Amino acid sequence: MIAAKNRGDAMSLKGTNQEFGRPYNRRIVLETIRQNGPIERAEIAKRVGLTVQTVANIIRELEELGLISGERTRKKSRGSPPMSLTLNPQGAYAIGVNVTPRGIEAALVDLAGTIVAAKRIETSPPAPEESFRAIGKIVDNFRTKTMGRMLLGIGLAMPGPFDVESMSFVGPTTLESWRGIAVTQHLSETTGLPTFVEGDTLAAALGESLYGVGRRVSDFYFLYFAVGLGGSMVRNGEPMRGIYGNAGEIGHVPIVPDGQPCSCGNKGCLERYVSLEAYQRRAPVIGRAAWIAEAAPLLRNAIVAIENLFDPETVVIGGLIDDELLSELAAAAEPLPSSVADRKERSAPRIMRSASGQDAVLRGAASLAFSGALSPRLGQADGSEKDPLFARSRVA
Ligand SMILES: [Zn+2]
Repeated sequence: MIAAKNRGDAMSLKGTNQEFGRPYNRRIVLETIRQNGPIERAEIAKRVGLTVQTVANIIRELEELGLISGERTRKKSRGSPPMSLTLNPQGAYAIGVNVTPRGIEAALVDLAGTIVAAKRIETSPPAPEESFRAIGKIVDNFRTKTMGRMLLGIGLAMPGPFDVESMSFVGPTTLESWRGIAVTQHLSETTGLPTFVEGDTLAAALGESLYGVGRRVSDFYFLYFAVGLGGSMVRNGEPMRGIYGNAGEIGHVPIVPDGQPCSCGNKGCLERYVSLEAYQRRAPVIGRAAWIAEAAPLLRNAIVAIENLFDPETVVIGGLIDDELLSELAAAAEPLPSSVADRKERSAPRIMRSASGQDAVLRGAASLAFSGALSPRLGQADGSEKDPLFARSRVA
């Protein structure tokens, strides 16, 4: 499992001028271009603390690998203008997978976060062994679509929480038969790819941060309607994980005193009323409109609680639930009662719809693999030149 630290620390990391640190330096330069591109090489050198010559050598390698491309944009009075460097979207690919109690979805994603191929398998619930086999086949198929470019890894999102005896792999919103399965190990053995596993809510929040509402809002709360209900506070573009990565379990906040029993052992948990599982259980009995009327007041209270706890710029709602239903539910939750978000001058509405839609979780899962493969890791500076990312580099 990738630690949030690995994704956020790149800006504070510096290169090393010792020869053994070459793989580490390459990752630092690449990550700096990913986060800041288009960027000139002198600026990269300044940011990572390496000489311009060292950075120039690394840039040549990265260009040879097709991971970055340069463009002369700015006119200077004398000489040739400096090269502005950006990631090459088709330079490498990663696979995002989302496993839910309803089935498996997978997408091949390029460096820019664009989904270039997708596959869905509906099987309820998906058994682990069959799932690994199915994902293996999907990966084989996706490999044929990368046009010889690098496939950096696979990111898998699945419902949490993890390692909580009373809640993990318990109940209809979890993958009950997956308890005790070493998912990362099985998947990396099946696919031969670096594998990163994360909770679905965190992966979706990351996807929304990178490719959705996060492009214009840096601090938001993402409410994720999966089979269950998850939520994640995104701060400075980074989803908050909590100490064990389980910060996303807003669905198990008890909200109705003496309410419906929940598989976690408590009564009246939010996701018993507000989730895809709740909709599919209740709507056939009481009707769609009645379900919205039943769920909206609880969603309203949850949003006020979220605003008072986190003071986000906005609460973004999205997930696997269909767009029309989500819009009707959000509309029914208005008008919102008073909270710290109830200010005259707001930069964004209090509730926003996800801008990356149902793809957020797949793109977020793929980005786990990009970050894991591209981000500088201190472990890489151990003198080993066996860095898979650069195995094809002639200069290595
Ligand atoms: Zn519960």
